[in-house]
Amino acid sequence: MSPADDRGTVEQLLRAVPDFPEPGIRFWDLTPVLADAAGLAATTRLLSAPVAGTAVDVVVGIEARGFLLGAAVAQALGLGIVPVRKQGKLPAVAASRSYDLEYGSATLELPAGVLTAGAQVLLVDDVLATGGTAAAASELVESCGAHVRALSVVLELPGLRGRGRLGARPVHTVLER
Ligand code: AMP
Repeated sequence: MSPADDRGTVEQLLRAVPDFPEPGIRFWDLTPVLADAAGLAATTRLLSAPVAGTAVDVVVGIEARGFLLGAAVAQALGLGIVPVRKQGKLPAVAASRSYDLEYGSATLELPAGVLTAGAQVLLVDDVLATGGTAAAASELVESCGAHVRALSVVLELPGLRGRGRLGARPVHTVLER
């Protein structure tokens, strides 16, 4: 499958849900993409390809869809995965960061004792919207002395200018909407 074919597969399966979780928000639902064998394979290839052969040591997946995508990407790259979780879920926390979302606010936490200083990290999530989530996750990674090699997301919403909040960190996106 070529990257263009893979993109077409993802595009066909992606679902836009109007007015969820609030009026005026168009929610991009990856559930049908993940539920489809070809869709999951295509997404995994597209998220992995930009960093294949580069110095990446570990994947960090952002709760919750970043866990599903990140685990698949980690397998494809022969790496492990570290979860960045919403507040209150981890028994031991290395660091936490609060941030604003496109809708509401949240706190993310990094588990203690699993990310080593100097590690090159691939961050994985489903959607880059305002960038608050990815920026907070990046800061958590960097607070441990690790480096964000890149962020890979399925969908970027460029109108919300999330990329601007990530500074010089490389961002790879499969689709824009
Ligand atoms: P943000 O911090 O604004 O970049 O939001 C990114 C996070 O919120 C991601 O983890 C997404 O899962 C979720 N998200 C934000 N906006 C949307 C949207 N329009 N559709 C689907 N997920 C979204």
